Amino acid sequence: MTFNPADDIQDLQYFGEFGGVNPSISDSSTYTFLSAKTMFDTFEGNADGCYLYSRHSSPSNLYLGQALAAMEGTEAANVAASGMGAITPTLLQLCDSGDHIVSSRTIYGGTYAFLKNFASRLGIKTSFVDITKMDKVEAAITAKTKVLYCETVSNPLLEIADIYNLAKIAKKHNIKLVVDNTFSPLSVSPIKLGADIVIHSLTKYINGSSDTLGGVTCASREFIDSLKNVNNGASMLLGPTMDSLRSASVMKNLRTLHIRMKQHSQNAMYLATHFEKDGLKVVYPGLKSHSGHKLYTSMINPEYGFGGMMTIDVGTLEKANELMELMQSQKLGYLAVSLGFYKTLFSAPGTSTSSEIPLEEQISMGITDGLIRFSIGLDNNIERTYQIMKQCMIDLGVLEKVGC
Ligand code: PLP
Repeated sequence: MTFNPADDIQDLQYFGEFGGVNPSISDSSTYTFLSAKTMFDTFEGNADGCYLYSRHSSPSNLYLGQALAAMEGTEAANVAASGMGAITPTLLQLCDSGDHIVSSRTIYGGTYAFLKNFASRLGIKTSFVDITKMDKVEAAITAKTKVLYCETVSNPLLEIADIYNLAKIAKKHNIKLVVDNTFSPLSVSPIKLGADIVIHSLTKYINGSSDTLGGVTCASREFIDSLKNVNNGASMLLGPTMDSLRSASVMKNLRTLHIRMKQHSQNAMYLATHFEKDGLKVVYPGLKSHSGHKLYTSMINPEYGFGGMMTIDVGTLEKANELMELMQSQKLGYLAVSLGFYKTLFSAPGTSTSSEIPLEEQISMGITDGLIRFSIGLDNNIERTYQIMKQCMIDLGVLEKVGC
């Protein structure tokens, strides 16, 4: 049988303390021990199944971690209070002062800022490369490199990382391939393609209701245990722990992820295809015109499609701002950062989610002034949405009335 991450989540079954169909939420920051010896063993990491203190682990976080590990096909996972709360400890656990990271240059602005401005203060240097050029990636690796870092579908340019070939390079040089899979849960399973560690911002598609932040690191049991080590684990010591009440709510939302991803993908495909036909500059990995289309087709679990993210370049920032304000007033969605909500969200990356990236670097990456990033929602009638959106574009002169 072929691997289907949604089936692996489905097969997990929990029983609450009182036979509930949802596991009971552990509303405790600390846990009792019947014997002082077990407490000592737990601190030493030798008492499996015992809880110590919720910054280390809690039953609710372990349940959610187990489900996300099943989704990504890893031995274990560690949930965090935000995506950055998963990314930063993971990289700090893998790298010491003096080490080096090779990272895709088109990544989420916060991750970029962390690598460029913060990790560098700790003596960890990063080379930013065009991740689609394997020769450039390999040439950037030095004897000090510990990590190769990328996003499966990059934020905001929607470039596709060739995970299979990046994993080959990582193995050859004995470094870890860390993949942020936030834009493509279920669609892409990076571990199956050879990645070592997969990260998600749960804030986005996985939770899907824009009511909380969250993050996860999915990896080997050994690595997850090292993140939680009481003496030197970056997650344990930096403390970006998710609260149990939140992890229980994220877990409930995870159960509908497969249905939502299909709808996001279907709606985005519809809009991308139609707006491209209308003559707009649309970037969507599901379009044949996308430079990574063939590669992405070879990587995805097809039933979840090409995802819900697309960009349209409308020429200037003024036009982009006008259009976003008009679309919001027409109830098409919200002028807001983030993604994976039931309503469409739109923002201009240059002045929002990528604003941490200096202007000249934005230009060299291809983040243009008029670029609008869309996270397409779960609209019931996407044809109707298309007509209203198109009218907005005609009203602002983004699309010509005749022939569009
Ligand atoms: N990774 C990607 C691809 C993102 O887009 C974001 C946030 O936008 C993050 C990580 C950070 O996640 P969070 O905001 O949950 O910390």
